[in-house]
Amino acid sequence: MKAFQRPNELPRSRLYSLVPCEVGTLWTECFTSYLNRLGWTHHVSPRAMVVQEVVPYLAKSQEISGTTYRWIGALSRGSAMNVNGAGSLALEWLEVLGQLTQRSDLHLLTLSGWIGNLSSVGHLRTCPTWCPICYAEWQEHELCIYQPLLWLFKVVTICPKHHRLLENHCPHCQKQQSVIALSTRPGHCTQCDRWLGSSHDGEPPSQMTEELSSWQRWVVQVLEELRVASGTGALQWECFFTHLGQGMTRATVTWDQLERFTGIKKHVLLPWFDLSKTPSLETILKLCYVCEVTPLQVMKGEITSLVEVLQRGRPSQPPIHRHARPTVDLDRCRELIYAVLDGREKPMSQNQLCKVLGCGHHKLQHFFPEERTSIIQKAREYRKQQDRQRIAKTHEQVRQAVFSLHAQGIYPSLHKVQSFLLAGVMLQPEARETWHAILRELGIES
Ligand SMILES: [Zn+2]
Ligand SMILES: [Zn+2]
Repeated sequence: MKAFQRPNELPRSRLYSLVPCEVGTLWTECFTSYLNRLGWTHHVSPRAMVVQEVVPYLAKSQEISGTTYRWIGALSRGSAMNVNGAGSLALEWLEVLGQLTQRSDLHLLTLSGWIGNLSSVGHLRTCPTWCPICYAEWQEHELCIYQPLLWLFKVVTICPKHHRLLENHCPHCQKQQSVIALSTRPGHCTQCDRWLGSSHDGEPPSQMTEELSSWQRWVVQVLEELRVASGTGALQWECFFTHLGQGMTRATVTWDQLERFTGIKKHVLLPWFDLSKTPSLETILKLCYVCEVTPLQVMKGEITSLVEVLQRGRPSQPPIHRHARPTVDLDRCRELIYAVLDGREKPMSQNQLCKVLGCGHHKLQHFFPEERTSIIQKAREYRKQQDRQRIAKTHEQVRQAVFSLHAQGIYPSLHKVQSFLLAGVMLQPEARETWHAILRELGIES
């Protein structure tokens, strides 16, 4: 097995010491955005750069995948997003990148520089989101185009600057974005390479309720408060849970009362206090929002107002439930469905459509019953057509490979033919059928 070099054996400053964007501010760049920009600065595919320059130095690459090549797929989706987190994976990447770039500030691009020692799971999205207006403005002013860490928090759903929902599907190909790009340029779709910025906001007002807007304003203020506090020393969340428990005792509030007050189930709340399970940042923020305190106030033991609010027994604002999330936007659904049916957009399966629209099958069936049937039919025909094209292409490739070998006087064995083609092609039954047919045609096989 290949011996993995540890960071202390790394060549020093093997990569450019690229300066991260807006480091030390609310708009701090995230670590994976930095990795992408580092690749582009070196004029190479960010994913190839990571696989060649970073992965070989990670001890975990052995444990996780057994081979570095498996990382290539993992880098496009969720597991790569953990590199922005506060767990051991992120720490290892930071150590390696810190040495390769000779930078000491890269920890500020991950959650460890923001939320301290809160358990690292469940705070970040699995795919990147973006604000098209931010991208368009940065391009217009010739500023760096990057992804702020703020956009990756699950709890942040709108752009704090433009008060519009963050996007998570490309408007052109409807696909989600890779975390570490294979190629493409900043601000361009990692799947279809088209520009993701837009200078005008086509979002219907129904998407943005006053409730969502005020919740999100508060969320961003609180995250900024946590980030600034993290700068003076890592946050210790044990104090938060201890002080919250003390607040409940002083207000003589029972678990059932806290459940009714916050809208968070007792069985979710209870494990927080013996630290057997730490909650997601989103749940902590929902609790604090309705209790009219910030997590930092509770952490510091400033709980007088918390006690008063709990004693009042009735929150002045309703708990943040799922209805505070954007509801299904029927106009957007209709527009996309008809674009698919008219052929302006590529056919997509019912699952893909629901994912893009953020609704379930039952909602699609309820609002667009006939269109749903046509969409499914169209996707089925499209799949069949793609299968036919794939088979025809395989047929042609096998044919060319066999004829080429035969002309050189080499026996066109399965193995030899396979060496001309993409891995695994000759495992397909139709490829083998073609191979036999051509051997018969050439009189090699009877
Ligand atoms: Zn924006
Ligand atoms: Zn796209």
